[in-house]
Amino acid sequence: MTRLRLRPIDPLIPLVVVLLALGLGGTENEAEMPPEQPPTAAPVTISDPFISLPSASLRENSQLSTLNSQPAALPLWREYLSGKRDLRVGLVKGVSKLSLYCEGDFQIFVDGAFLRDGNQGEYITFSGEMKESVTLAAEEGEVWTVRIDGRPFPGRYPGKMEVFYAGGNGETGLTLLNEVSVEEYVAGVAEKEMPSSFSLEALRAQSIAARSYALSYLDRHEDDGFDLCAGTHCQVYRGKPDTFGPAQAAAFSTRRQIIVYEGQPVRTFYHSTCGGATADGLFLAENSTNRAYLCGVLDAKAGAIPSGEKDISRFLSERSSGYCSISPKYRWQVSFTAREVDGFIQANLGQVLGQPWLRPGRVKSLRVGRRHGARAEVLEIDCEYGRYSLQGNTMRWLFHDAGDKFASRLMSTLFSLGVQRDGSGEPTRYVFTGGGWGHGVGMCQWGAEGRARAGASATDILSAYFPGTELWTEKVSEESEDTNE
Ligand SMILES: [Zn+2]
Ligand SMILES: [Zn+2]
Repeated sequence: MTRLRLRPIDPLIPLVVVLLALGLGGTENEAEMPPEQPPTAAPVTISDPFISLPSASLRENSQLSTLNSQPAALPLWREYLSGKRDLRVGLVKGVSKLSLYCEGDFQIFVDGAFLRDGNQGEYITFSGEMKESVTLAAEEGEVWTVRIDGRPFPGRYPGKMEVFYAGGNGETGLTLLNEVSVEEYVAGVAEKEMPSSFSLEALRAQSIAARSYALSYLDRHEDDGFDLCAGTHCQVYRGKPDTFGPAQAAAFSTRRQIIVYEGQPVRTFYHSTCGGATADGLFLAENSTNRAYLCGVLDAKAGAIPSGEKDISRFLSERSSGYCSISPKYRWQVSFTAREVDGFIQANLGQVLGQPWLRPGRVKSLRVGRRHGARAEVLEIDCEYGRYSLQGNTMRWLFHDAGDKFASRLMSTLFSLGVQRDGSGEPTRYVFTGGGWGHGVGMCQWGAEGRARAGASATDILSAYFPGTELWTEKVSEESEDTNE
């Protein structure tokens, strides 16, 4: 269960650093947090650096003995799925000060070795260059709240919290991660990534997708010291939901289920609305052309993915045939003046291309250079001082306003582009007529809802968006082994 990094305490590390790090620091303006208590524990010496965390009191898992008795080693993702290993979810990194508060009792470990018990109401504050990693383990059912630099950080987190200091390039400072079981993680993600008002089968598809996605990406933040981050880069996770709602029911009723392809967890990308046809995996920078299940599919009962500008324009003018036509973003139009486009290109092109020094000058023309299916695969930009082309979903990041890194004004790559010109033929306005919202790869969430309303099950939904994949249920009882349902 535990994945604490057990290593002997370096005798040269002054213990006082540890104890200072565990001291009860002051925090200000704590309207939402319970008042701090005076220090309750005297400094303790570490008597046995090899004591590991007694997991039995912290998490139920009665089936583990069965799994442990299986002779063959499980692939890593199955260790997570079966509950043998917890996910390490990075909440923040590079911060200078953070405090943790547990609503119940907890235990404190330093580099995996038990230090002391913590009491309900006790604040633990971390700051400075800690040499050790400190883990705080809440008792079953208790949750953690967090303050970063004195301000409340959203979410209530079950399980264990680990804090360590990471130096070097990039964000130097404290990293905070939450160690939780895959199931607790999925319950939290399902609530944040899809509206709870969606149908149960759509929510169940979302839960299976969230679980598969996590297990297909376990090495994504290896360099950061955790498995996945808690933001939109991976999947949004804010800990334990406040109430037991439909998302938790969906997560619980699909527990230990993922979809697999050739024996591996499927990288189940998902997005809000495809607009009637999903995108091929090549639209994402991860480039998944070798994942055959990430081919673009038609998201409608009948018809075909349109090709050719005329067909695509016609497709984008109809408003009801796709499963996701119930989405408010199924069809849209956005237009920018030539001057606005100049502004976007000046501000963003260098960043998007990884050449922040770039000065492209005014835009002379903007056009779709190549299509893949119905979508714009290449956007060509002819500027005063050079020609540039952007591929796939990346082109959307040209059209975002300063300070809003993740909200592109170009909602998807499914669009036709019209240009208005003045008497001398100079472009004055660019008009994007489009469909859908998001990168378009994998599961369309509004389409999943449309399919659920039409009677599809969670597995129907997933096999429509990820063709050729199969449901995998990790069994943890005696008679079952590698059962692929
Ligand atoms: Zn991430
Ligand atoms: Zn769709």
